[in-house]
Amino acid sequence: MRQKRPFHVMIIPTLGCPSKCAYCWSSEVGSPIMSIDTVKDIVSWLKDFRDDPVTFTFHGGEPLLAGADFYRQALPMLSGDLAHIEPNFALQTNLWKLTPELADVLAQYNIPIGSSLDGPQELNDLQRSEGYYDRTMNGYKLALEHGLQVQFICTFTSHSVQFKEDIFKFFMDNHLTLKLHPALPSLRSDEPERWALPPEKYGELLVYLLDRYLENMGKIEVRNINDYARCVFTGRGTVCTFVDCMENTFAVGPDGSIYPCYRFVGMPEYVMGNVRDHPSQKDLAESAAGVRMRAFKEFVDKECKGCKHIRYCRGGCPYNAIAPTNGVIMGVDPHCPAYKRIFDEIADRFNQEMMGSLGLEMGASARPAVGNKPAIMPLVRKLASN
Ligand code: SF4
Ligand code: SF4
Repeated sequence: MRQKRPFHVMIIPTLGCPSKCAYCWSSEVGSPIMSIDTVKDIVSWLKDFRDDPVTFTFHGGEPLLAGADFYRQALPMLSGDLAHIEPNFALQTNLWKLTPELADVLAQYNIPIGSSLDGPQELNDLQRSEGYYDRTMNGYKLALEHGLQVQFICTFTSHSVQFKEDIFKFFMDNHLTLKLHPALPSLRSDEPERWALPPEKYGELLVYLLDRYLENMGKIEVRNINDYARCVFTGRGTVCTFVDCMENTFAVGPDGSIYPCYRFVGMPEYVMGNVRDHPSQKDLAESAAGVRMRAFKEFVDKECKGCKHIRYCRGGCPYNAIAPTNGVIMGVDPHCPAYKRIFDEIADRFNQEMMGSLGLEMGASARPAVGNKPAIMPLVRKLASN
């Protein structure tokens, strides 16, 4: 029997967004809103596209700008007419436009929500725009009142990383799961690097978060550390950055154009086709963008050949690697030093602690020194029990 290969289709109802986050790289003023006819085209395109389970993520821009009617019509079409590929849903939003009506529709389909907060109010509003925090928190309360689950992504910039202690404490004190994201160079800005978090700083931040997480097990969940640790402990990546995402991830823009991922939406050179033409997997793979994505995969096979983490890291995110160089493949994901640093740290601690327990079992008088670092075994046990 063929093993199922779940795939992911991101639906971008618009690239418009009411917020003006300082480091944003993805929103576009005046972007149109996807029509319901385009949703119908998505459904007919996917009917015979492949026989694997699908997850639809509504992303943006700000996807709630499409309004309650859009979701009231789109969700039954996607879930009912595509029932044979078992659709799951998710939504990424700043929550400003959430209304009781919209919350009811989303709750009916049990849609988990990802939102964004960069830490305490002052810091968040400095990076994301004045009044952001209150608007998002109002939406958060409304979402909870309607039984929706919300998790926040925290973007660390070159500025906010100086306040990492305050940010960690904010998430822990407010009982929020921490999922982080390093600010990328904004290709739409005159100063693309201004807020971007340099890879070395990102690596230091990850090790800092590993320590704080291990010291506070049971009080907070740091999703990225779980993901890195799963890679090391199981030898398999579980998030898109650490698998070959090409061929299993697509995004559909407001006009029905298909891209390799939401990050490329609005970049004409990455259009692989359009849903109204019902392209097959082969058609998409043979498009110029499909060929470029595959070339990245082949590049990683050679470039990362000597790296012990290649099996799960797979060169990181292709967008990070090729978008800033106008599609020319000049290297792997620039965050490579950060990935190596945290993968090595987790693997070394795990090996040292294993050696320590082995020594004790064999009658050694003391465990080998592991410095003052908090033990990693509680995290191993936690992930194993999940
Ligand atoms: S391009 Fe990057 S963000 Fe997009 S699916 Fe691939 S790894 Fe994920
Ligand atoms: S850590 Fe760096 S060298 Fe190793 S596989 Fe990842 S991107 Fe390649």
